[in-house]
Amino acid sequence: MAEDVKRVYAFGKDAQGNNVTEGNKDMKGVLGGKGANLAEMAVLGLPVPPGFTITCQTCMEYANAGNTWPEGALDTIQEYRLDLERRIGKKIGDPTDPLLVSVRSGAPLSMPGMMDTVLNLGLNDRSVHGLIEKTRNPRFSWDSYRRFIQMFSNVVMGLEGDLFENAITAKKLERGIRNDTDLTADDLQALVETFKGIFSANVSAEAHPELVVDGAVAFPQDPDTQLRLAMEAVFGSWNNPRATLYRKQNKIADDLGTAVNVQAMVFGNKGETSATGVAFTRDAATGKKEFYGDYLVNAQGEDVVAGIRNTSPIAELKHTPGLEEAGEELERIFDLLEDHYRDMMDIEFTIEEGRLWMLQTRVGKRTAAAALRIAIEMVHEGMIDKKTAVMRVAPEQLDQLLHPQISKTAVKNVIARGLNASPGAAVGEVVFSADAAVAAAEEGRKTVLVRWETTPDDLAGMIAAEGILTSHGGKTSHAAVIARGMGAPCVCGVEALKIDAAKKEVAVAGTDIVLHEGDVISIDGLTGEVMLGAVELVEPEMSGDLGTLLEWADEYRRLGIRANADNPADAQLSREFGAEGIGLDRTEHMFLGDRKQIIQSFILNEDEDVRTKAVEALFEAQSGDFYGMFKAMDGLPVIVRLLDPPLHEFLDNARALDVQIAKLEAAGADEATLAEKRALMDKIDGFAEQNPMLGLRGCRLAIVYPVLPRMQVRAIATAMAKLVKEGFDPKPEIMIPLVATVNELAKLRAVAEEVIAEVEAAEGVSLKIPIGTMIELPRAAVTADEIATQADFFSFGTNDLTQTTFGFSRDDVEAEFVPQYLSEKLLPYNPFATVDPGVAKLVEMGVTFGHEGNPDLVCGVCGEHGGDPDSVKTFHALGLDYVSCSPYRVPLARLAAAQAAIADME
Ligand code: PEP
Ligand code: MG
Repeated sequence: MAEDVKRVYAFGKDAQGNNVTEGNKDMKGVLGGKGANLAEMAVLGLPVPPGFTITCQTCMEYANAGNTWPEGALDTIQEYRLDLERRIGKKIGDPTDPLLVSVRSGAPLSMPGMMDTVLNLGLNDRSVHGLIEKTRNPRFSWDSYRRFIQMFSNVVMGLEGDLFENAITAKKLERGIRNDTDLTADDLQALVETFKGIFSANVSAEAHPELVVDGAVAFPQDPDTQLRLAMEAVFGSWNNPRATLYRKQNKIADDLGTAVNVQAMVFGNKGETSATGVAFTRDAATGKKEFYGDYLVNAQGEDVVAGIRNTSPIAELKHTPGLEEAGEELERIFDLLEDHYRDMMDIEFTIEEGRLWMLQTRVGKRTAAAALRIAIEMVHEGMIDKKTAVMRVAPEQLDQLLHPQISKTAVKNVIARGLNASPGAAVGEVVFSADAAVAAAEEGRKTVLVRWETTPDDLAGMIAAEGILTSHGGKTSHAAVIARGMGAPCVCGVEALKIDAAKKEVAVAGTDIVLHEGDVISIDGLTGEVMLGAVELVEPEMSGDLGTLLEWADEYRRLGIRANADNPADAQLSREFGAEGIGLDRTEHMFLGDRKQIIQSFILNEDEDVRTKAVEALFEAQSGDFYGMFKAMDGLPVIVRLLDPPLHEFLDNARALDVQIAKLEAAGADEATLAEKRALMDKIDGFAEQNPMLGLRGCRLAIVYPVLPRMQVRAIATAMAKLVKEGFDPKPEIMIPLVATVNELAKLRAVAEEVIAEVEAAEGVSLKIPIGTMIELPRAAVTADEIATQADFFSFGTNDLTQTTFGFSRDDVEAEFVPQYLSEKLLPYNPFATVDPGVAKLVEMGVTFGHEGNPDLVCGVCGEHGGDPDSVKTFHALGLDYVSCSPYRVPLARLAAAQAAIADME
């Protein structure tokens, strides 16, 4: 542990009312987010129940030592515990007036619902009577004790929550009542005994010898044991499967650890003047400036988030009898916190008998739409500057806005309505379990996960599903919070849905509709509507807040942003998204569809006449395509790449042809037909290669079949000439792929220049067309100084460069060993998604050497990495001129490039 980091930090007041807080909001790495912000609220003088925080570093020391406490740690914790007891004037476990504490996790980065919490710690068979005495409320006291046993058993001992829920249900049936709130003190006292019995019967004596009393496991009565086991459970929860999955999903490092916060309990379940709630200072779904959240009267802790009872909107709090003052004070605190943090805040609070207590605050998670609106409005409100606004929106989040939404003219059959918890539209088959959603996704089927409520155990299914629909819970329920974080559409609290997960069906109240697993529905997270069948979706538009923020981003970024597009419609779309040119037009994509026939007749025919005709037909088609592309991008560069992939990609699939021949044979087809098919089969076989990715492709194709590059260059130059004559300003550039040596490039450059000169002469116009190459082989990168003498520009093809640097096949790798490499941490991330440092080094070499060979060389990237925000930051740092990515990634790349530039300024 670093010397300047203590093991434990106190927060809150001493017995005299003096603030003894030792931490602050900037200590998230030590105290975790929750601990740091509790400390900050205490510093601000807000009503925070006192407590102490055990550091994240202690968690990692504990985990790294095989779940063993570091030397002296328990003694230090004991000192802080005694200090807390002194400050409050009560002792944990005291039989006459017990102090109860909560034990909560809190990692440096927010992981909502991922980690475990234990409430009401300190209760036992004796202290519960002290609590009754002090509160004069036996029902509350027994309820607190049964909750403690239930949480402790579930969280600390890993017992199934259902064991306890079933016992509660049995009790209610026995008593003929419906709600938990109807259980009496006697009922709850009886349940405590039942729960202790469940504990004894299900906790293994072998695993927990310290809990054996008189030969049997007993619920721990000693507060020291309770506290130690609870802290160990929180530390252990850092490595539980759902926390591990969440970290992987959100790229959070595994070695941060979690802090443990031990804090005096306050109670929202002491009757009608007590309440508990969660709130945001602005609407987390839309960004609107209004208080947003839910509360429950007479409820404790997790009840709100769990979505077990339907909540009331926060705006009603200050109008609720007995809660008016606390409601007013809460609104003042909302403003104060927003002003202090200069951001939208997420808050947890409890009101105990009319008195407000702040339990947590953190910067609130929000949808992309809300993130944009809040950032822009805060600039207008003078709270933050434009740079801060640009840094506030995560580029990955923009994806949410760039995905299909429900068409305004769609025919909708709305069968129910709920809360619009997370925007976006989803269409999919109804599934009732996370496992079913995961299984369907593996088969490529889209689903909507329908649950009464979701729990952290549903995470994998929530990721796999297109959207999430729940019948219970408010806008801050687990489903809503997680869906917003993931950018998944979510409608929650649809009370009309009567779900029977066991039968795999859901009835819609007030109608005779019953949906079964597999039925298709649509949900709209923007309106809260649930619709029968698949509703028509449309592409999003670039306007409003997104447009404004990206304009601001453009003021800061240095990197140019281009798009990878190979048809005029995509080119137009990318221009609307702000692309400043086309960085890669993959011309082979223009040879698909009905054009495939033409290229096939070129490849498969030996007759020169037929081949010449095919080339002429290709020329006609390509010059038309280029005309459309250059016109759509008038005035902006369009890099056209000459034909790249192995020729056999244009041929029929050999296996399918084999099957066809067998079927024809079985059906007794005539010999002539069979002979023709077999001859075709032989030809296709002749083109097969053992390693097609390393075979006859890229510039090698152009060298072996020179008529192809001649045809393509002629089509480019002819389309350009036509547009020039029409008064346009076309700016094509010619790019030669997969070059390994300068000789390849020199040869093909000469061919291109010759053809351009021919077209200039024929058309009577002068055509300036830069000629460059892709750098996608390590040899090209390390000999870039030579290659650059023949190139006007380089474009790094980081897909192939990753493939050839690692020797991983880009087409197979994700289905093969990379998942295992990732889970064993042999690779920190998928190098085909985010550029690997080794590949980045080759890019750097290419840029540096390239400029030695040609000081005017323009350098860009056109591999998939051009649209990955982390990679964009790397390319900015390497001094590239631009990145090029798919049209939908252009807005992300603009924002990521601006953030990289702003980070450089700071
Ligand atoms: C690349 O290899 O990075 C590239 C852009 O080319 P393609 O993906 O078409 O091989
Ligand atoms: Mg390539």
